[in-house]
Amino acid sequence: MRAFAASLRAQGHRVHYLQIGAKDNHPRLTDNLDALIAHFHARRLCWQLPDEYRLDRQLHEYAAQLKIETEVVDSEHFYTPRLAVGEFFADRKQWLMESFYRHMRQQHGILLDMGGQPEGGKWNYDHDNRKAWQGKPAVPDDRRPSHDHSRLWREIQDAGVRSFGEAHNGQLSWPVSRQEALQHLEHFINEYLPEFGQFQDAMSSNQWYLFHSLLSFAMNSKMLAPREVVDRVEQAYRDGDVPLASAEGFIRQILGWREYVRGVYWSQMPGYTELNVLQQRHQLPHYFWDGDTKMNCMAHALGQSLERAYAHHIQRLMIIGNFALLAGIAANEVHQWYLGVYIDAFEWVEAPNTLGMSQYADGGLMASKPYVSTAAYIDRMSDYCGGCHYRRKQRHGPGACPFNSLYWDFFARQRSRLAGNHRLSMVYRQWEKMSADERDAIAAYAADLRKNLNSL
Ligand code: FAD
Ligand code: SF4
Repeated sequence: MRAFAASLRAQGHRVHYLQIGAKDNHPRLTDNLDALIAHFHARRLCWQLPDEYRLDRQLHEYAAQLKIETEVVDSEHFYTPRLAVGEFFADRKQWLMESFYRHMRQQHGILLDMGGQPEGGKWNYDHDNRKAWQGKPAVPDDRRPSHDHSRLWREIQDAGVRSFGEAHNGQLSWPVSRQEALQHLEHFINEYLPEFGQFQDAMSSNQWYLFHSLLSFAMNSKMLAPREVVDRVEQAYRDGDVPLASAEGFIRQILGWREYVRGVYWSQMPGYTELNVLQQRHQLPHYFWDGDTKMNCMAHALGQSLERAYAHHIQRLMIIGNFALLAGIAANEVHQWYLGVYIDAFEWVEAPNTLGMSQYADGGLMASKPYVSTAAYIDRMSDYCGGCHYRRKQRHGPGACPFNSLYWDFFARQRSRLAGNHRLSMVYRQWEKMSADERDAIAAYAADLRKNLNSL
């Protein structure tokens, strides 16, 4: 915000920026607005639609009681208006992202051939995107400039803001200007977008970002518009610089997922952040705050989240979220944690991803079944299990991987809510096929783990 204020001033705009600890910065937003309106003898208040429901309500209510003229303008940082996704799905029970994504490709003419058909004959190249990463090809360096924010950080702490985690080497490399964000976009497209697609779901203990773009923060904080990112990627494909599977896979994340989750948020608020359809109740264990756990996959995913304010999608979904759901953590606790830990976390995008996609707290509006797995999936997509204290193939008994028994126990505990889902019939059939002794041993081991979550 400070760099943005400076760049606006340099362009000749008048900017009144209130620093966090400034004497004239009131704790309440509306008190600040009252003071500014009085100070500048304002005759008109204009604002850009904010992205958070609470703030949106607050500004509308505030404006409604003002005696001066008011105007609100939409944000140009999304393709769709807030309610478009809700209108697209209207009364449908399940909101399939894929159908919305195809509609968006057609509506905006993206990755279509001359006949208006999907480029390459397929809408989706997800099947080409499931490779594990064995150290090759090499991941390009992180060339983003790093920033020492220690003075600013002291100011924030002096203002009484509570925090957790510790910046990597005291430095943060997230962009502070549009120029930095644009430079990183070019670096990403030229150096590692070609590999993005195939290793999208891979995880590694040696590499924290693999081939992911690290662009969510720049887009969510509006340094970059999603449209310019998508257009630049399509251009790179048309110029023959990146394969179709990578360009399509990447564009789907922004044109599809990003717009879709925003639409879910605006159509479901208020109330969405309170959902807990699976009635989960446990508290978050301490390792969510300090990363100290014997589960190697969790230690890596949590550790890098606490140090870098970043984990890529599969770490968020299939390690941390997977564990939270299997362990029975209260959905709202998980939601608050994700909102607090990631650099790109804003409620409109974090809440549907965490509560809907990851924790199944909306009962299946977003996900057709819960995203959970045993160690087998984690072992296939990462090198975490090799260096772990726990045994990935064991379901119960000393040293057995917690993901294994908690997985089966989760489905057994949630039988009344999930057994009717035809996409889960195979899971329940497998559970029934196990001997009664095996099922009892799994249930006993899982119950013990859930009682001792803090010592895993
Ligand atoms: P890349 O993998 O390079 O993807 C490119 C871009 O696509 C991202 O920058 C992002 O803008 C968009 N994108 C990809 N997946 C999603 C998605 N599921 N929803 C919305 N946009 C998507 N994303 C956030 O921006 N903020 C959050 O607070 C957030 N919380 C999440 C919580 C959970 C539990 C999960 C499973 C996912 C969450 N995501 C969130 C989505 C996704 O994980 C991040 O957008 C991504 O990891 C950001 O890293 P990147 O820029 O390197 O992404
Ligand atoms: Fe994670 Fe289990 Fe693998 Fe350990 S064995 S890394 S706990 S999945």
